[in-house]
Amino acid sequence: MEYDGGDIMKEAGILSKEEIEKVTPPLDRAEKGPVAVIECLEKIPCDACGWACPFDAIIKERITVPPKIDYDKCTGCGQCVLVCPGLAIFLIELDGEKAKVTVPYEFLPEPRVGQEVVALDRRGLPVTKAKVLKVMRSKDKTLAVTIEVPRELFMEVRGIRI
Ligand code: SF4
Ligand code: SF4
Repeated sequence: MEYDGGDIMKEAGILSKEEIEKVTPPLDRAEKGPVAVIECLEKIPCDACGWACPFDAIIKERITVPPKIDYDKCTGCGQCVLVCPGLAIFLIELDGEKAKVTVPYEFLPEPRVGQEVVALDRRGLPVTKAKVLKVMRSKDKTLAVTIEVPRELFMEVRGIRI
């Protein structure tokens, strides 16, 4: 299973419905455990995600070409979420009626496990309330925050507000 980057088009910095379908991992893979969702819009010179992945799941054919991901190699470790300067990588995991969504977070105060936060969509608009399940931290203090949301929101929620 592979998403090949392809022609992700920029529309006001927000993915269109078709683009969201294109970057959505296979649902059977997302039901087995966390998996990365790469929403890299720009053909910018960046390969931080490719270098960060310990499992060679992300391939950059050229530095300005959007990354490819091999969903079968991805373990959902979250290292790519922590290093992406574009805040364009997320993790999703489906579990019955619920979904876990991991988003990058660079603001203060830092969220705490168990805290209730507001889940935001790609435009920064509130979608629902959500509970913080996990907080990962990079060396430069970027956080990857995992929250629990209703399953139908797994490709909508892309940020949090405390
Ligand atoms: S979540 Fe981990 S294994 Fe998956 S693409 Fe990102 S760095 Fe690689
Ligand atoms: S690290 Fe982020 S911005 Fe850079 S290529 Fe990967 S997904 Fe795109």
